[in-house]
Amino acid sequence: MTELEDLPPLREVIARHGLAARKSLGQNFLLDLNLTGRIARAAGDLSAGSVIEIGPGPGGLTRSLLQAGARQVLAVEKDSRCLEALEDTRSASKGRLELLNGDALEVPIDTLGQVPRKIVANLPYNIATPLLISWLHAIHRSPDCVECMVLMFQKEVAQRITASPGNKAYGRLAILTQWLCEAELLFDIAPGAFTPPPKVTSSVVRLIPRARPRADCRLEALEQVTAAAFGQRRKMLRQSLKGLFPQAAEVLGELGLQETARAEELEIEDFCALARRLSNS
Ligand code: SAM
Repeated sequence: MTELEDLPPLREVIARHGLAARKSLGQNFLLDLNLTGRIARAAGDLSAGSVIEIGPGPGGLTRSLLQAGARQVLAVEKDSRCLEALEDTRSASKGRLELLNGDALEVPIDTLGQVPRKIVANLPYNIATPLLISWLHAIHRSPDCVECMVLMFQKEVAQRITASPGNKAYGRLAILTQWLCEAELLFDIAPGAFTPPPKVTSSVVRLIPRARPRADCRLEALEQVTAAAFGQRRKMLRQSLKGLFPQAAEVLGELGLQETARAEELEIEDFCALARRLSNS
């Protein structure tokens, strides 16, 4: 039986299985095993529970996760050509790699594998944000369902996830993510590291779900408040929040917030206070 170290180079796997990259599936393959190793190591100890990998492609990151000692890797891939190409890796994993043919957007994360569950993936860029949002909803329902996520996004999206107040990238994605998770931008990967190279730089982000959200409020109300505030981000809040609170200036005053402030100046806790006020109005 082939050992992981003896698997053919990824370029050979791609050529043998005719894995011409499909743009519609966000296919930019990472073939540098030093880089995939770095991503796998960023997820820490993998010897318990399951690692969920979305979109294994030809399997570079999958190999690194297995080599890093993952107890179980459950890889969800939409492209059946990739699943055929991964068969040798599956045999070499000696039962540790399970392949699932499907659309990651349709598989509830808390039904995959076992806890402690880690999600490690070079995400297909066209669905990266909706995937993250669906996982955040799952974490909100059950904070223990995911222990850690190490995810690659387009750099611009990674900046929107990790931004702080005052930064132009700060908005709904930063607030929802950091309300529920500790977020850290780890490192960038240049387009040339991928086959084919994407147009933009990529960044790896680590997200660790908090035991409790940063402040109490209903998620739906937080989404409503941030949508209103950042939908018109250059306007003053007393104006942009009028659709939600007819007396927006008064509400802001009650909460100790400047009515002339703009959305990007508020802390996550301030948005939670607005969300609580909305739920109680
Ligand atoms: N992990 C591989 C790597 O690092 O080389 C491939 C990453 S590539 C950016 C994204 C992968 O996600 C592709 O293999 C693609 O086929 C797969 N994919 C795209 N849409 C998907 C979906 N809805 N569900 C599951 N996998 C999907």
